[in-house]
Amino acid sequence: MKYIAVTGGVLSGLGKGIAASSIGRLLKSRGFKVTSIKIDPYLNVDAGTMNPYQHGEVFVLADGGEVDLDLGNYERFLDEALASDHNITTGKVYHTVISKEREGKYLGKTVQIIPHITDEIKRRIRKVARESGADITIIEVGGTVGDIESMPFLEALRQMHREEGGHVNFLFIHTTLVPMLGTVGEFKTKPTQHSVRELREIGITPDVILGRSEKPLPKAIKRKISHFCDVPERAVISAQDVDSIYEVPLNFERQGLTDYILERMEMNSREEDLAGWERFVKNLKSAKGEVEIAIVGKYTGLKDSYISHKEALAHCTAETKVNVKIRWLEAEDLEKEGDADEFLKGVHGVVIPGGFGNRGIEGKMMAIRYARENKIPFLGICLGFQLATIEFSRNVLGMDGANSTEFDENTPYPVIDLLPEQRGVKDMGGTMRLGEQKVIIQKGSKAYSLYKRTEISERHRHRYEVNPDFIDKIEKGGLKFTGKDVEGIRMEIGELDEHPYFVATQFHPEFKSRPMKPAPVYLGLVKAAIEYKKSL
Ligand code: GLN
Repeated sequence: MKYIAVTGGVLSGLGKGIAASSIGRLLKSRGFKVTSIKIDPYLNVDAGTMNPYQHGEVFVLADGGEVDLDLGNYERFLDEALASDHNITTGKVYHTVISKEREGKYLGKTVQIIPHITDEIKRRIRKVARESGADITIIEVGGTVGDIESMPFLEALRQMHREEGGHVNFLFIHTTLVPMLGTVGEFKTKPTQHSVRELREIGITPDVILGRSEKPLPKAIKRKISHFCDVPERAVISAQDVDSIYEVPLNFERQGLTDYILERMEMNSREEDLAGWERFVKNLKSAKGEVEIAIVGKYTGLKDSYISHKEALAHCTAETKVNVKIRWLEAEDLEKEGDADEFLKGVHGVVIPGGFGNRGIEGKMMAIRYARENKIPFLGICLGFQLATIEFSRNVLGMDGANSTEFDENTPYPVIDLLPEQRGVKDMGGTMRLGEQKVIIQKGSKAYSLYKRTEISERHRHRYEVNPDFIDKIEKGGLKFTGKDVEGIRMEIGELDEHPYFVATQFHPEFKSRPMKPAPVYLGLVKAAIEYKKSL
């Protein structure tokens, strides 16, 4: 069992998650089984209750875990399914320790950060590593070195490094910023030096330094960092800005990072297979022309809120070799202005992503109506699926005031509602339908032509459902539910016959879209958008 810990210095938001994911991909390309752990030093137990506007998207795992979006990056880069316990938070750690204390398990001892909290951190890391059966576990520590919150985690990692037998089994990779100053763009290494010193003060010596910069680090700068930070020059890696995050592994590989890591950890490559990834990046970069797709949401100010949608569309670009330009639209603006045409004119496709609460729902429904009536390719996801059902009920079937009981408890037509067994349950967390569930697809449907199978498994995060009392009426009107859960009670996919591409899903296909394996309903959307553009 080997471990690689990735820490960050100078400032947050340097793309540490992408760096860690890229290293994972590179090691996987050498034939090793790799898994990853994200440490989030905040006190929340998980990301389920966090506002996407502050933290970006809540990513949903197969087991229903609601986790930090970095786990989405890991899954996309590694193409391995992770579980909830791969996200360790201060909240989870303290929760266990305090419960144990209440149960009297510490036998009267004083319960302290060292050793009790640090032991619990180590126990969780080792458990995940062991149970995943991975050769190498990559651990990313959120935040930056020096944050009060991350101290117990860094201390635990420092201890693990020794207990596991030093750098052969436990490597430290430190990500820093190397800013460029002045008109000539002089590289400044001082922040890196300070950050490494801070790391050393807590007893951690980095084995590799990843210098984030605008441009590639020149040899002389690498040498300087090597001297001041006491790592060999080969271990100073330039992590310059690139057009696409998917290029990062290739950039590291070119600089010999994988070879260096394997050498230092005394491992031999079992194979070398980056060809698929290289082809994927090449396709991405050589894409010609573009279609424009609108994402109408309510957190569009922070693009990270919809990161999995953005990546799913990128996966489609590599597949179709046509660029997808995203037009970010704030649903509330549409609602206020009242003119969908003004906002959506010229787009070749519309996506309505998931969401909670009623802010912006009328604006989203205006966009759905516009796409439906003008035969513009449309993909609705989760809340987007529910709103497509409501919009259809209102504007095609004449059910005035149709709504979801999430937004209007007294609606005359509750076409979206809680199922009877969920009503009156107070614990909101308990009623959420989460994680991967089977979906049965009707043969001959559009959905079937996309997935090419009758049984799929997709990820969920919702509470409300299409109300069974209205299904008949809606289907007779022309919105067909071609995907259902195994019991046939929950509607999972809706599609319109009289439309080139109007598909909506109760599940979240974006969470399972991967490089080289784009989510079928996204690929369908982009292909339809390409056709639509040609027809204009
Ligand atoms: N708010 C809706 C529900 O709870 C949709 C959730 C979502 O889009 N993730 O069912």
